[in-house]
Amino acid sequence: KVVSAGHINWDVTIHVDRLPEPDGETRIDRLEQSGGGSAANVAVGLVDLGGQSVVYGSVGGDESGALALRELASAGVDPGQVLVDAAEPTSVKYVIVDGGGELLMLANDGANESFSAAGLDRDTLAAADHLHLTGQQPETAAALATAAAEAGATRSFDPGRRVADREFDAALHASDVLFVNDREADALAAATDVDPWEPEDRVVAIKLGDEGATVRTPHGSVSHPGFDVDPVDTTGAGDAFAAGFLAAALREPEITGDGFSHDPRDYQVPILVGNACGAVATESVTARTDLSWDRVRDRMGES
Ligand code: ADP
Repeated sequence: KVVSAGHINWDVTIHVDRLPEPDGETRIDRLEQSGGGSAANVAVGLVDLGGQSVVYGSVGGDESGALALRELASAGVDPGQVLVDAAEPTSVKYVIVDGGGELLMLANDGANESFSAAGLDRDTLAAADHLHLTGQQPETAAALATAAAEAGATRSFDPGRRVADREFDAALHASDVLFVNDREADALAAATDVDPWEPEDRVVAIKLGDEGATVRTPHGSVSHPGFDVDPVDTTGAGDAFAAGFLAAALREPEITGDGFSHDPRDYQVPILVGNACGAVATESVTARTDLSWDRVRDRMGES
């Protein structure tokens, strides 16, 4: 069982022919709504791939929050630990996308910012095999990482844009696996003594867009090129990659029997599955991609 902690959003995607100019108006062709946010995306991806997951995060006491909770439950994720903060709006992201895939995004911080570990039931974490941390307050990330380590659960961390923020040091150092893209890897190398390209004491999965990904460990690396796709929108590709990578790694006792293995050869399958999930995610505009082993195998077989 995996606990995925961090952002839970309600996403509204508005399809238009052409993006509006300032002061202009554009007709809406189609409007889609779905759950989003990194923690929720990874939790749902893991369930799609046959796992069990619980999501930790916070939504507002509004309609978007109720929709997000209902959607998580219907996707098979346990939302029982999601905190409802009546004082904040749910974090909502509006994406306006034109026919050519050009995007405008609008988002609020909302309830994601108020998520703290204080109100959480420790038993859920104690029963988990793995904790996946995404963007959230540094104190929350640190508290959860520490609690997971004490409970004997392995940890992964996807810091996203705030990668170079030193407030995340505790979560960073407590993680067995780090997910970053190449720009984040460079930013982290410049800001800290952790060099994701040559890690000394952990596994780093570096996402390289259409070039796939590389996994670095203290004992070497393994890389695979990306699958051949016509990307429509790469939002959510990183979350799909993490879900695929973790789903494949966590079912291998070779890899996770004793912490995360530092033998790069063990990561051949996780990196391929991560790349296939990431590729599938680029083929649609929504941040939430329906992943399944059938779809992943199809993608891996085609290339
Ligand atoms: P992030 O979204 O976190 O910045 P990437 O853009 O690198 O990360 O995407 C995550 C993963 O999705 C990549 O490692 C790759 O496996 C897959 N991916 C992303 N863009 C493409 C693409 N254009 N073609 C094929 N695979 C892609």
